[in-house]
Amino acid sequence: MAWDEKCDVLVVGSGAGGMVGAYVAAREGLSVILVESSDRFGGTSAYSGGGAWLPCNPVLKRAGSDETLEEAAVYYHAVVGDRTPRALQDAYLEAGAPLIEYLEQDPDFEFMVYPWPDYYGLAPNASAEGRHIMPMPLAASELGELRATLRPNLAEERAGEALADELLGGQALIGRFLLALSKRPNADLRRETALVELVREGDRVTGAVVRGVGGDRRIAVERGVIIAAGGFEHNAEMRTRYGVPGTTSGAMGPKSNTGVPIQAGIAIGADVDLMDQAWWSPGLMRPDGSATFTLGFDGGMFINQHGQRFMNESVAYDRAGREIIGLLEAGKLTLPFWLVYDDRDGGAPPIQFPNQPIGNLDDYRAAGLLRSGATLAELAARIDVPADALEASAQRLNGFVERGEDEDFHRGVEAYDRMFSEGKPPMDTVSRPPFHAMAFGLSDLGTKGGLRTDENARVLDSNGQVIQGLYAAGNSMAAVSGEAYPGGGNPVGSSMVFAYLAARDMA
Ligand SMILES: Cc1cc2nc3c(=O)[nH]c(=O)nc-3n(C[C@H](O)[C@H](O)[C@H](O)COP(=O)(O)OP(=O)(O)OC[C@H]3O[C@@H](n4cnc5c(N)ncnc54)[C@H](O)[C@@H]3O)c2cc1C
Repeated sequence: MAWDEKCDVLVVGSGAGGMVGAYVAAREGLSVILVESSDRFGGTSAYSGGGAWLPCNPVLKRAGSDETLEEAAVYYHAVVGDRTPRALQDAYLEAGAPLIEYLEQDPDFEFMVYPWPDYYGLAPNASAEGRHIMPMPLAASELGELRATLRPNLAEERAGEALADELLGGQALIGRFLLALSKRPNADLRRETALVELVREGDRVTGAVVRGVGGDRRIAVERGVIIAAGGFEHNAEMRTRYGVPGTTSGAMGPKSNTGVPIQAGIAIGADVDLMDQAWWSPGLMRPDGSATFTLGFDGGMFINQHGQRFMNESVAYDRAGREIIGLLEAGKLTLPFWLVYDDRDGGAPPIQFPNQPIGNLDDYRAAGLLRSGATLAELAARIDVPADALEASAQRLNGFVERGEDEDFHRGVEAYDRMFSEGKPPMDTVSRPPFHAMAFGLSDLGTKGGLRTDENARVLDSNGQVIQGLYAAGNSMAAVSGEAYPGGGNPVGSSMVFAYLAARDMA
């Protein structure tokens, strides 16, 4: 192989994992090239809340948490079970605190506690505050010219809102890494440059082929390659091949998350796992044909094709998504299902956290995604469900609201359910005409199946042997959390942790 250039570490992708991998490797004195296939840095991570679930980290400790790692592990192990190796789970749990300590040594990084209840509130040691931190906001002006290289948030990118002066959440996270990396001359970050192929010689990855505007370049690596290129949620063919429920229209990642680097890993003998898995959510169906990740339902009721309520509307979004998938697969639910609510807010749906501005309700009405009726019977006819069933569902819900207890689906029992309703049961009667229904489908925050790794993020082959020089993190890696989403901040937190472990291993 004739190489065009050489570096110690090649990082593929610029979300939370890619940024951590590049930053840690560069800070440890290694020469780094980071390639990002799209025209902006940040990936899904730049759309995200930037929350990270990292138990016992110094930010939580300073805020007074005296939890031990063993206590947090009881929760995590109970929720994830044995779907992923215990050693991998423990690597995630143990490395979160050292990672944050390491980052906080650099003034470019500041974090704050952002209480966010764990997603399985009845599991042992579930925390009502969570183990969740977020980056401190960052003035956009601090980024200077780098600002134009940062992927905007969803409101800016998809709903056309003006760029914010203050970067929050995932914007602040990626912004802080861009700033910190700009001070490291041994880190070279390239946009519009995609990994297309890995080069393996014997048991070792020795380099890769990347494709940019100037054509293909062959980059040799001294230490290794970190694949942190997100999931394959926008690759319809891969979704079908691996049986991932949902479609690309419900995928929240940037369109550039197509799984090419995962396929490049498979092509050189890497093993994969969890390939039918994603981080799921109910998806608000939009006039442009997408279905977006939506949370914070503090009123209304989900109604199926029979006019019946079928689940706890306020349960953590991935559990909600899994419930919806289970019902679809059992033939008990068809899409769309409907969020039925009354007119107490002048027709606005009881959604506290749409993740992307809902926009003009008239557009939904024109697209048939929002329907109304003067009575529940009229609404039932418009959404094609039996009127008596819809009326009975509303009556039953209204009784639960009066008594403060959802006897059917236990809505509001867990701390997370009540997080968007000021601690009160997240329910309201459906009683004030006119009545409305908004169409829902399935959305995902990204796929979470990918390259199988050991506890140092080293990619394994199908015999369980390490492929030297190849690492994976984030949604390119078979998720440490297996078939569960234990708490807000798991995707970003684990992406950061395994990229950190990869870079440390190479350093
Ligand atoms: C609205 C929203 C809010 C969320 N909030 C949170 C939260 O607060 N906390 C949390 O933990 N999770 C959150 N999530 C989920 C989380 O954002 C993602 O799971 C996580 O950011 C994925 O990170 P990553 O490092 O794996 O990849 P990504 O951030 O998706 O980055 C992958 C990058 O790789 C690039 N890439 C792809 N292919 C190639 C290639 N061939 N060559 C080079 N580059 C390539 C992509 O263009 C992309 O920029 C949220 C998701 C959404 C949509």
